[in-house]
Amino acid sequence: SGSLEIYDELKKIMEARGLNVAVELREEPHGRSVGLKKSGCHGFCEMGPLVRIDPQGWLYVKVGVEDCEEIVEKTIIGGEPIARLAYTKEGQSFSRQDDIPFYRKQTRRVLEHCGHIDATSINEYLAIGGYQALERALFEMTAEEIVEMIEQSGLRGRGGGGFPTGRKWSQVKRQKAAQKYIVCNGDEGDPGAFMDRSIMEGDPHRMLEGMMIAGIACGARNGYVYVRAEYPIAVSRLRAAIAQAEEIGLLGDDILGSGFSFHLHINRGAGAFVCGEGSALTASIEGRRGMPRVKPPRTVEHGLFDSPTVLNNVETFANVPLIIERGVAWFRSLGPEKSPGTKAFALTGNIENTGLIEVPMGTTLRDVVFEVGGGMRGGADFKAVQIGGPSGGCLTAGDLDLPLDFDSLAAAGAMIGSGGLVVMDNRTCMVEVARFFMNFTQNESCGKCVPCRGGTKQMLAILERIVAGEGRAGDIDLLLELADMISHTALCGLGKTAALPVVSTVKKFRGEYEAHINKKY
Ligand code: SF4
Repeated sequence: SGSLEIYDELKKIMEARGLNVAVELREEPHGRSVGLKKSGCHGFCEMGPLVRIDPQGWLYVKVGVEDCEEIVEKTIIGGEPIARLAYTKEGQSFSRQDDIPFYRKQTRRVLEHCGHIDATSINEYLAIGGYQALERALFEMTAEEIVEMIEQSGLRGRGGGGFPTGRKWSQVKRQKAAQKYIVCNGDEGDPGAFMDRSIMEGDPHRMLEGMMIAGIACGARNGYVYVRAEYPIAVSRLRAAIAQAEEIGLLGDDILGSGFSFHLHINRGAGAFVCGEGSALTASIEGRRGMPRVKPPRTVEHGLFDSPTVLNNVETFANVPLIIERGVAWFRSLGPEKSPGTKAFALTGNIENTGLIEVPMGTTLRDVVFEVGGGMRGGADFKAVQIGGPSGGCLTAGDLDLPLDFDSLAAAGAMIGSGGLVVMDNRTCMVEVARFFMNFTQNESCGKCVPCRGGTKQMLAILERIVAGEGRAGDIDLLLELADMISHTALCGLGKTAALPVVSTVKKFRGEYEAHINKKY
């Protein structure tokens, strides 16, 4: 969006005005100094490029290179906010970031430092209390206490399934094996999802610290981050973060003299959606073709290199240091009993405020769409939300008061997935939406099992002819029959959930399918 040009321009103008520009935390301020840093994502994508001014907490939106002169003169030197660069909604102007409705309704825990710290500097992470949870886990807690704390916190995997994280850790801890592994799934292949990317780019040390704590708890000495190669900034920031942690003895042999050793490795995925599935992901790290296998055995017993493995996603690991540091009661203070904590969502589609958000679990869909999201773009009517990407389902106006948590969504026939939320207005054709997701899943089917390989192809062909106005009588029933067959017989989660977008759109918008078939659309 041109943010780097803005950074360069601000630096140039500040230096020309005789200011000492400190770009590193360690640089001592002297004379008239100003710190200037590149941060990770603030989440308010719709309004970028963003410039935040501290300590006032002002946020300038849609900043251009041409605004830099005024920012330096009026704000940096003059100490005044610039009204025309503040976010404005319905005639009201908001200078402070925390007052903007998009942020006011959020509770940012995992994302609290994204957009505020320089993600390439371990010193910034240390300065805000980073790695204190690791220190606690190393010197003040036993492995049993760590696992028990994560179990009591009620943390559930943020990657989609919602499996209790503490239970998974205790299963791996119990295994007697010479080698165990901690694997972080940063593959994030859902269309419309970018939560993990923002954490890896904006606060990489937080999730690495969570992985190290998992290593202490489960007795693993090696960890792998499986990250999409399409996320080059995430890859380079993770690499830099690992190198920095190694340099100061927070990673490697005998960490801080504790006797505990832990090594972290990066593995780049080549863009296969199926590699988000546990056994395909571990196969890919091992250098084999990324294909799921029959389970059992489960990953906690025979995972990476046939060894017991903890596999969690980026957001799950990023929650861990917070729980260790701030406690179980603090973590449970938000969200329902069975889904405590917060959840990050990527908000996209026909909505006013697209971006990355974090809200307490159990926040209603209405609050997410109309409060945080600012409502429908251009005042259009709300029609539906696709939640959980291609494995999820669609929610309609009747679901607006549904709390967004694992169990409420499962009861409504949808799933939280990794947290992609695509909002659609009344101009959207739901059959086309189902076709889009089926096309995606069909492309990503690894082809190992017939129900998914052949079934998704048949479903896609039917959807394509319906959208093209060539649907036949009986096509809807055929779609449902195929959906039932695939969901019961496919080998892995990709196939089992592939038909969900079709099933949920048929259930809620059957009339649109019929209108296409009867050529009345
Ligand atoms: Fe591959 Fe689909 Fe079978 Fe999964 S369900 S193993 S993606 S063919």
